[in-house]
Amino acid sequence: MNDSTQQSPALLGDEAAALGAVHAGLSAAYGYPGTPSTEILEYLIAESEKNGAGGRQNPADNFIARWCTNEKTALEAALGVSFAGRRALVTMKHVGLNVASDPFINGALLGIKGGLVVAAADDPGMHSSQNEQDSRFYAAFALIPCLEPRNQQEAYDMTREAFEISETFHVPVLLRLTTRLSHARAAVRAGKPRGQNPVEKAGDKTRWMLLPAYARRNYGALIEKQKDIGEWSASHPANRLELPPADGAAKHDLAVITSGLGGNYYEENLADFLAQRGGRAPARLHIGAYPLPLESIRRLCAASEKVLVLEEGQPFIEERLRGLLPGSTGIAGKLAGFDGGPGPVIRQGELDPDNVRRALGLAPRPSVLDAAGVLDGGAAGLKPEELPGRPPQLCAGCPHADSYEAIKKAAAELDPRPGHPDVAICSDIGCYSLGAAPPLSTPESIVCMGASVGMAKGAADAGIKYSLAVIGDSTFLHSGLTGLIDAVSAGVPMTLIILDNSIVAMTGCQPTMIPSEKLRNLILGCGADPEHFLELEAKKQFLEENCAKLKKEIEYRGLSVVIFRRECLEAARKRRRNKE
Ligand code: SF4
Repeated sequence: MNDSTQQSPALLGDEAAALGAVHAGLSAAYGYPGTPSTEILEYLIAESEKNGAGGRQNPADNFIARWCTNEKTALEAALGVSFAGRRALVTMKHVGLNVASDPFINGALLGIKGGLVVAAADDPGMHSSQNEQDSRFYAAFALIPCLEPRNQQEAYDMTREAFEISETFHVPVLLRLTTRLSHARAAVRAGKPRGQNPVEKAGDKTRWMLLPAYARRNYGALIEKQKDIGEWSASHPANRLELPPADGAAKHDLAVITSGLGGNYYEENLADFLAQRGGRAPARLHIGAYPLPLESIRRLCAASEKVLVLEEGQPFIEERLRGLLPGSTGIAGKLAGFDGGPGPVIRQGELDPDNVRRALGLAPRPSVLDAAGVLDGGAAGLKPEELPGRPPQLCAGCPHADSYEAIKKAAAELDPRPGHPDVAICSDIGCYSLGAAPPLSTPESIVCMGASVGMAKGAADAGIKYSLAVIGDSTFLHSGLTGLIDAVSAGVPMTLIILDNSIVAMTGCQPTMIPSEKLRNLILGCGADPEHFLELEAKKQFLEENCAKLKKEIEYRGLSVVIFRRECLEAARKRRRNKE
């Protein structure tokens, strides 16, 4: 794809995408941290700071890389960069795309000028997420191209290409990554870096104003582009069709469609699968560029009796096949298997070489388990399923534990009945969600970024006597602030509890957008009552005192705000290390 000039050190998939963006002539990158996407922007921030504050050796190579308040503001900033003619990358985890969905969907209707790439990293298996949503649906919904790399080299190459096609079709391009690629390392062959675009404002401002008359025209233009985008995808080298002769039969007995990492796991098992099939190779299509290459799919399926789909994430390809193919073509994948195999493919969780092997109808690989299913050399003689789980937990001494102790005690004192029916404790996303596990077991709801505030208001509206929203400082700025304005405006009796540890801890200690000392003015500026605004130190020795003060604010029949404050231990450690 590019002139290979240089072998990189081993890079994470995230880092390979970041390097691809730099070499594509990136001018600005924005994002909000979230596993498994965080390392993209961390790499770019480190790169942008090389050679001194904001300075690379050649000033023309300088680019901006910044965390933003949330994914929506990040994407909107990137739209501004594109409007100015330059190239921008936005990074987020899959659920962040929900937050950014408004500018994401509308961005497709604009006259994208500088290339705009949205890198969304999906988390099948929910290693650090609240759902398994598949970002490919968003690209299809927005009618824009999507690239899905299957290794670090493709992450690099496809990121570079994504900027080119964004400028070719004047639409944002989605780069879909998944956990195992984002967080695995390999060296890549890096091409020759391209310079940045000059600053040159978009010429036709009607392409950037989604007033109904312009939006209708722009939407028509987007629909017209679909033919060209479809042709690009149909001839893309990542959409590789292998249609060998069917050994004298009229049709192949089986075709396999893979996408993303599903292709790697299939190939890992291919030798055994061919041996099982007496050497007969199934027809094959690997898909790495979307929209789906319809003609290749039709050719593959017309030449095959049955199709098995191996895709990471939700059954995006499989569902479309079920609407596309004649009923005479059997389809197996996540939604169903064939009688007697192959399939079905696991519906929930990540693909891996073993569950793909099962879906192919192959016996398990010889493993480190002995005949009794016990791990070789395991002194304890434990079977893998008997090994104790290692769920994530708060660090020993974490300030959130002390805050939750006070909240839990206050709730129990306000309503001593089991489950304290008169107290609702709505929590949020961040390290403090780990307070849901024993022994704290305090939060009663955790839904999405910022939901605690709106839910506490709703619970109060519905008649719960003591309604609490528990949210971290960064999550509050991300999506809780607007909920606070609702609560102020409605004058509901609820307590907003901000657990301020001065950092975005869960994703590796990225800075919060504003320092702790500015929270007070921000909250009071939204209309909160200064008489019912408290700042407490989250420390064990203040448990009784903090609980008593908190209880008083919870009993207040209006909106109160209580901040529990103490620096995250990990952030303090990093701060000390950086000073040495
Ligand atoms: S990283 Fe910080 S906030 Fe998170 S659990 Fe550890 S001490 Fe607590």
